[in-house]
Amino acid sequence: MREEINRLMDLQIIDRQLQELEQSLSSIAGRVDQLRDENQKNQTELDRLTEHDKEITAARKKAERELAEGEVRIRNKRMRLTLVRNDKELQALTHEIESLKETNQRLETELLTSMEGADVRTARIKELTEAIAKGRVDLAAAEKEIAAEVEELKSNIGKRRKAREKVAENVDAGLLSRYQMIFSRRAGVAVALAKGGTCQGCRMRLPPQLYNEIQKHLQIHFCPNCQRVLYYEEPAAEKASS
Ligand SMILES: [Zn+2]
Repeated sequence: MREEINRLMDLQIIDRQLQELEQSLSSIAGRVDQLRDENQKNQTELDRLTEHDKEITAARKKAERELAEGEVRIRNKRMRLTLVRNDKELQALTHEIESLKETNQRLETELLTSMEGADVRTARIKELTEAIAKGRVDLAAAEKEIAAEVEELKSNIGKRRKAREKVAENVDAGLLSRYQMIFSRRAGVAVALAKGGTCQGCRMRLPPQLYNEIQKHLQIHFCPNCQRVLYYEEPAAEKASS
């Protein structure tokens, strides 16, 4: 049984290394992902603004056309003023001119407002376009920079996984899945030393009968409190190994 525990301890060492390697890999990849996300966000905003700008420009052109048409109509009606024959006609014509003037004033205000917004938009479009260009360069540089590191990490992870498989295939399947569960729930410590009657994983005092059994290593024992696999080391052996 001691051998089974040794295999679990080997597994625990490999699993911790794997955990560390995978964390490094994801934190390295995270930097690139962040740059990529930022670029994507800028691109989305740029697309939206460009589309909006197109719509506003079309609306402005339409307003400009209407304004010009309105001015022509006002001019025509003013010319007709010289030809009116009675008060009623004069009143009607004056009223039409006033109404056309009001419409044109409204169009002018609209045009001015849309022009004000256009400056802000144009500036932002320029800013975004530059940020995207710079972001692309940064991203390419970051990808190139981490490529070697990522390769090495992946190769190390591959090697460790193979080593893990080799150890794991000699461990009883039930024990292996129990070990894996404890490893993930107990922060990477699934196998703990029982020393001085105490579980060194959770510091709980073990029942004396259990502690005696653990020392015999006749079967696998688990801590009643933290569920870790427990093993015992002869004080002499412990001294020699440390
Ligand atoms: Zn414990």
